[in-house]
Amino acid sequence: MILIVDDTPENLISLKKVLERHNFEVDTAASGEEALKKVLKNEYVLIILDVQMPGMDGFEVAEAISGYSKAKETAIIFLSAVNTELKFITKGYSSGGLDYITKPVDMDILLLKVKTFYRIYEQSRKLIEIQNALLDEIEFRKQAERKKDEFISIASHELKTPLTSVKGYIQLLERNIDKGDIETVKKHLGKAQVQLEKLNELIADLLDISKIESGKLKFNKKHFVMDAMLDSVIEIINQSNPEFKIIREGKAELEIYADEMRIEQVVINFLTNAIKYSPGTSEVHIKLSADNDQIYLGVRDFGIGINEAQQKHVFDKFYRVEETAIHFQGLGIGLYISAEIIQRHGGEVGVKSILGEGSEFYFTLPLNQEKETD
Ligand code: ADP
Repeated sequence: MILIVDDTPENLISLKKVLERHNFEVDTAASGEEALKKVLKNEYVLIILDVQMPGMDGFEVAEAISGYSKAKETAIIFLSAVNTELKFITKGYSSGGLDYITKPVDMDILLLKVKTFYRIYEQSRKLIEIQNALLDEIEFRKQAERKKDEFISIASHELKTPLTSVKGYIQLLERNIDKGDIETVKKHLGKAQVQLEKLNELIADLLDISKIESGKLKFNKKHFVMDAMLDSVIEIINQSNPEFKIIREGKAELEIYADEMRIEQVVINFLTNAIKYSPGTSEVHIKLSADNDQIYLGVRDFGIGINEAQQKHVFDKFYRVEETAIHFQGLGIGLYISAEIIQRHGGEVGVKSILGEGSEFYFTLPLNQEKETD
């Protein structure tokens, strides 16, 4: 928008008309004081400013405007009657641009100048936009880099912990073998095996992430019965967590067409999380149901729960609930891998949870999808 400032009403009206005829949006002020008020409220591309006005003259107005951050990009064209005034023109204004036109106004020249200032204004706007977009992008890179560094440091720590344990057990084994204490040797071998299994799972997760990133996560789909798979998963979990009761609710004896190992991986991930994030409890429920189109599997715990805002993010890569992360070991990739597996089977993952009361992590898988998801 253009602001015309002139104390002579005829000048205001005639300038306004000409500019509007050329499709410019125009505002007017009859004094320097009124102009300053308007500049505070609105944004102008250009101000056409009469120099000689009673009260504040044009130069004083320009000088005052130069202090307004709102008018940083605003250009000014002075309308000056006398040539001697021109030496003051650069005084006090050094922002958007300055020019002058002597009275009586040559409309063609004025229009030319107005158009030029508009073009410069548009170009500088675009440059600022590009600059902001670039700054945003740099910040987003930087953030990704920070996340990655953080992940590498957590991952190395997580890998080092079981490795150090295994090293310790091997040293103990050496000593107990020398002593011929077979019972203790067996006990330490069992413990070393548990730690090695942890290492194996961590490395498998890390490999899965890199397969997902490179689009190389492949599925080996076959027909299988969900119920049978669940029985074997529960047995595995019971062995490592005998203190937890895993209660089955509902059945789905139908066959589904999917990668059994990968679906098993998701169920194990949900169950180990349900146990890990529920200290002081001893029950987890598995809910299984099916209708004509899909199968539903939910793992319900009575643990710490997740607030609503954080529920949206738990399936994101590297996401861990900040408030609880220090109390539980983890890398924040299990649910991301699970979501990828289920979505690539044409299903959905989700969570229902109440903070402090527990969570239900679930997935659905389409039935009769052999052709579409193959
Ligand atoms: P990890 O458990 O290794 O951190 P996941 O990807 O499995 O990674 O889970 C991501 C985050 O979601 C966890 O860090 C935790 O904050 C939250 N979470 C997952 N499962 C549960 C659950 N059953 N109850 C509460 N919070 C959970």
